[in-house]
Amino acid sequence: MSDPAVQPHDRSLPAEAILEVIPDPLLLVRAIETGRREIVYGNAAARALFRIDLEGAPLEAALRQPQVLEAIEAARSTGGPEDVLFESIGAQPRFWRAFVRPLGRGDELVLVLRDETDARRTERMRADFLANASHELRTPLASLAGFVETLRTHAREDPQARDRFLAIMAEQAARMARLIDDLLSLSRIELNEHIAPDGVVDLLRAVDDVADAVRPLTAERGIRIEVSAPEGSLGAVGDRDQIVQVVQNLIDNAVKYSPRGGVVRVSLSRVEGVGAARAASREGAVALSLLTPDAGADQPYVVGRIADEGPGMARQHLPRLSERFYRVEGQTSGGTGLGLAIVKHVVNRHRGGLMVESAEGQGTTLTVYLPAAL
Ligand code: ATP
Ligand code: MG
Repeated sequence: MSDPAVQPHDRSLPAEAILEVIPDPLLLVRAIETGRREIVYGNAAARALFRIDLEGAPLEAALRQPQVLEAIEAARSTGGPEDVLFESIGAQPRFWRAFVRPLGRGDELVLVLRDETDARRTERMRADFLANASHELRTPLASLAGFVETLRTHAREDPQARDRFLAIMAEQAARMARLIDDLLSLSRIELNEHIAPDGVVDLLRAVDDVADAVRPLTAERGIRIEVSAPEGSLGAVGDRDQIVQVVQNLIDNAVKYSPRGGVVRVSLSRVEGVGAARAASREGAVALSLLTPDAGADQPYVVGRIADEGPGMARQHLPRLSERFYRVEGQTSGGTGLGLAIVKHVVNRHRGGLMVESAEGQGTTLTVYLPAAL
């Protein structure tokens, strides 16, 4: 009994026209004699990929990866399907999966190539992220476990050492909590990154609130936060909590990396267009855009610049600043390295932009711009 679902159609199908429009490269290959194969047909996607005259060409003119040739050999001898992964055709390395399907008795085979580069890249990023996050959590955990052990043994009868160790343990536990908060916050932001916010946030209010909250801490180190803003509206289209989070992270960094007695200058403005928003503001510094909005180049933006007198950063660090867990070597900040990653994702959700200007020994300016509210 035959399954009605696999009954052949009784009308004839335009087979070649169908093959032509399949988005994956597809080749029909024929064995001429042992070890020699020629391409009988390549669809439009295959011609675009290989850029050679495929018809009648030896297979090796298009594909010479040994894995692929072996899979073809295997498919031919077993008469069954073979799938194989291989790397790179062309200038940019890419990852492909080749599906080899013998036709009939196996003198002819169909080869379909699927580009899995993006999937591989996503998978790699996921694996890296997990490895990094675990590593970052393990470090304070190992320290906690070490002190527990010390308190149970050597420091048992030593009240002074005990107090010291407990203070360190509290600090490590707080660090783990911060890390987890930041990770959760990042994942929440990513979840709704594709949904544009719709509130209106006054950037000056957000900056004032954050600055007021950190002033007691900055006063201890003699650091001043100066805020300057023009008259008139500095309303941005945005989610208030997230904008405050951005401002908080940028001011935190500026304060953290400021020398004693340094000044952190926050200047706000409203400009027309992306070009004006990312105008350079620091002479002799390297400027690099970490995020540029892909639309709305001519619309008005509300701009916040946060400039510090800290150590600055060498050029090679700048492109990586907003990567998760990235920290400039030698700067022992105790931070998690997630702050600027959070900033970037929030700003991206807001269809805004982010720029860094820095020069070693001369300080850093971070500029964030958000679409202005009408
Ligand atoms: P977190 O903000 O998560 O507590 P963090 O401050 O180390 O930790 P980010 O805010 O993402 O992480 O910053 C990444 C790195 O960039 C920092 O570790 C620091 O090395 C460098 N950096 C950021 N801002 C400045 C700045 N204003 N001056 C000098 N270096 C900076
Ligand atoms: Mg930070």
